Amino acid sequence: MNFREYIRKVEPYVPGEQPQGGRVIKLNTNENPYPPSPAVQRAIEDISPDSLKLYPDPDCSGLRQALAAHFGVKEEQVFVGVGTDDVLAMAFMTFFNSDQPILFPDISYAFYEVWANMLGIPFRKIPLSDDFRICAGDYACENGGIVFPNPNAPTSILEPVSFIEKILCQNRDSIVIVDEAYIDFGGESAIPLVEKYDNLLVTQTFSKSRSLAGMRVGFAVGSPELIGYMMSVRNSYNSYTMNRTALAAGIAAVQDQEYFDRTRNAVIRTREQAVLRLKELGFDGPEPAANFLFVRHQTVPAKEIFGKLKERGIFVRYFSKPRIDNYLRITVGTDEEMEELYAALGEILA
Ligand SMILES: *Cc1c(COP(=O)(O)O)cnc(C)c1O
Repeated sequence: MNFREYIRKVEPYVPGEQPQGGRVIKLNTNENPYPPSPAVQRAIEDISPDSLKLYPDPDCSGLRQALAAHFGVKEEQVFVGVGTDDVLAMAFMTFFNSDQPILFPDISYAFYEVWANMLGIPFRKIPLSDDFRICAGDYACENGGIVFPNPNAPTSILEPVSFIEKILCQNRDSIVIVDEAYIDFGGESAIPLVEKYDNLLVTQTFSKSRSLAGMRVGFAVGSPELIGYMMSVRNSYNSYTMNRTALAAGIAAVQDQEYFDRTRNAVIRTREQAVLRLKELGFDGPEPAANFLFVRHQTVPAKEIFGKLKERGIFVRYFSKPRIDNYLRITVGTDEEMEELYAALGEILA
C-alpha cells in the first residue's frame, strides 16, 4: 500500500494562456477590453481596511439584493459565487445526483465535462449539428439534468428564448441550467422564465460584459427552492466564498447601467465590423452573438495562423479538438487592437 493509490487524479480544465508582463494583444480568453465602471474603483476605495478584519456577510445580501432589483426577482432567487465557475460547480453538486447521465453539447464549455468527471456524475455529450446548432429534439430523452451555454461557446451561436422554453417543456422532471456567460452581447435572457419553470436555473457572470474577470463574481437565478438548496450545499463547504472587495465591486457594477450599456454596445459595434473585415481577409464562420468570433480561413490552416499571430504577440484561442481544429476563437478587443489584428492577418495571409 502506498499513499499514491489514494490520491485523486483528475483531468483539469486548461484555461487560455495568461501571458504575464510584456506588451501583448490578448484576444484569447473573452475578457472585456474596457475597464470596469469608474463606480467600481470608488467602491473599492471606500472599503475601510478595518472592515477587513471581519468576515464578510455570509448571505451576500447586498449583492443579491442589487441583482434581484436589477432583474425584478426576489433576493431568495439569487445565488452568488466566485465567478460562474464556482456557481456552476455548486449547481452540479446540488442538482446532478441522478444515475441517469446529464446532457450537454459535444462542442461547448469544456469545464462541464471536467466537473462531471471530478464529481463522478455520469454524462453524455450530444453532438451539435453540422452547422454547430444545438438541436432541442436531441434533449428529449431520459436524463439526469441538462446544461448548455447560450450563446454557445466557442461557437458564439445564440438560440432564442423560445428554444430554451422548448427544452424546458420537454424536461419537466430535470434541472436545466442555461449558462448565459455571453447573453449581454445581443441575446435575450431566459431569466423571466424562472417564474414559470421551477426546473430552470440561469447563470451569468461579471467576467465578460461587466469587465470584472479579475474580481471573480458570478451568479445564478432560479426559484427560491432551487437557490435554497444551493445555499445549503455551499454552506456545507465554505460559508465565505465571496470577499468584501468582490461584493462591493459587484454591487457598483450592477448599478451603473449607463456604463454597462455604453461598453456593451461598443463591443457589439466592434464585433459587427470584425465580421466584415475578417470576411474580406478570407474567413467565414457562424453569425456571432457573443464577445468573440469563431472563424476559419478558406485556405490557411487555423493552427498555422494561431502560431504566426502568437509570434507577433497577438493571442487568440485554438482548440485542437475534433470538428473544430480548423477554427480560431477570437475575442473582440478595442478597435485599435482589432486594427492590429487585421494588419497582422493581412501579412500572414499575403
Ligand atoms: C467565461 C465563462 C464562464 C465562467 O465565467 P467566470 O464567471 O469567469 O467563472 C462560464 N461559462 C462560459 C460558457 C464561459 O465562457
